Amino acid sequence: MPVDDRPGEACGVFGVYAPGRQAASLVYFGLFALQHRGQESAGIAASDGQTLTVFKDLGLVAQVFDESSLAGLEGHLAIGHTRYSTTGTTRWENAQPTHRQVGATSVALAHNGNLTNTAALARELGVGSATTDSDLMAEAISRGIADGRSDGRGLERALLDVLPTFQGAFSLVVMDQGHLIGIRDPHGFRPLTLGRLETGAWVLSSETSALDLVGAAVVRDVEPGEMVVIDAGGLRSLRPFPPAPPALCIFEFVYFARPDSILDGVSVHAARQEMGRILAVEHPVEADVVVPVPESGIPAAEGYAQVSGLPYVDGLVKNRYVGRTFIQPSQMLRDRGIRLKLNPIPSTVEGRRVVLVDDSIVRGSTTRQLVQMMRDAGAAEVHLRISSPPYRWPCFYGMDTSDRSALLAARIPVPEIAEVLGADSVGYLSLPGLLRAVGGGDRSCTACLSGEYPTDVSEASGKFELEQVARR
Ligand code: SF4
Repeated sequence: MPVDDRPGEACGVFGVYAPGRQAASLVYFGLFALQHRGQESAGIAASDGQTLTVFKDLGLVAQVFDESSLAGLEGHLAIGHTRYSTTGTTRWENAQPTHRQVGATSVALAHNGNLTNTAALARELGVGSATTDSDLMAEAISRGIADGRSDGRGLERALLDVLPTFQGAFSLVVMDQGHLIGIRDPHGFRPLTLGRLETGAWVLSSETSALDLVGAAVVRDVEPGEMVVIDAGGLRSLRPFPPAPPALCIFEFVYFARPDSILDGVSVHAARQEMGRILAVEHPVEADVVVPVPESGIPAAEGYAQVSGLPYVDGLVKNRYVGRTFIQPSQMLRDRGIRLKLNPIPSTVEGRRVVLVDDSIVRGSTTRQLVQMMRDAGAAEVHLRISSPPYRWPCFYGMDTSDRSALLAARIPVPEIAEVLGADSVGYLSLPGLLRAVGGGDRSCTACLSGEYPTDVSEASGKFELEQVARR
């Protein structure tokens, strides 16, 4: 379980086509930079043009791989994955890349996002045992290859056939022995970017920050609805889907992505600072200091301090080496979890009226503890300022918030939230303010904040609808 109650990320994917080099080592470092997107398992598939090899296990990237396991992943072509389990449980079989053998063709797939039509797909495929949506995708693709494998372009043709049957969020890196393929769903819920090394090698990554680490320059984003095929002949761009309005997850800007990443041409760090500036205008308060909740609350707190004129101080310290604790999901253990991660600095907050800036409140238990921590450390008042609007609706596109009853703002009206959390006041950034901070936002998904889903989620939300009916 995570040590706090923020929604979990939906995985990181990375792919390399690097003639003359060992691609797996580059993928290893790429995954290392994407570790924040998933800490439950890590895996790499590599090909030397003839043989495709997969190595994956539960744990962090640095725990899963060592020099000898990397040395066994030979070849110029590789993909990798770090997993956060939004569907399926945490077990080895669900670690990715997912692998299928179809005759002489080996296929490996790494997926970021969630499909919203898994039950329909499973029915169509007649598969009852698939444990994840990624596994279903691999099954559909391998059947497509089996159907049309005689023409020598098996994987590409199969993808063009089956991709339009997938609904929901999917940024994919897929490979066979000779091709690296990157795909973004028609709405582009999850990011996927294309980079290039000086040697001419191609790189695909969930975030630009991972390109920086391996020394690749950003070429461009893979566009929503685009499929890029990279092989010995270079790069080709294909459009397997009918056009759809783009809907990049706005929570990538709020919390999920690294601050040093660029999403859709916008700096995540700059967007977070702007959220804080707008928040200060929308929710000013008489106070003495601005304290960020590390780490994603830091840029917003800087922005809030700039506009409010209040001093910015470090009132909470993050234990940088805590990583992820696999604790039991009971409330009592969750409560201990946050103490492992954050600790107050009493000398900076004692006797002061504190503006505590965080990026979001999801379930609320972490925030309640943070407010209490500030009070225990001697804060005279605690005013919560949140750099995103109330999180009221479940996400079906890859975040682990599909149970609406767990969302604080779905249960409690905003004017009562301060009392529930033990704070003196609470102010949330407005949705227009957030959209402005990310550069307009007409290309964004805001479903968890607005209830407006860019796709049909009737299958995925069936459970939620039943709950609603029961309450009426
Ligand atoms: S519902 Fe929210 S978390 Fe999910 S993709 Fe949309 S903006 Fe992101």
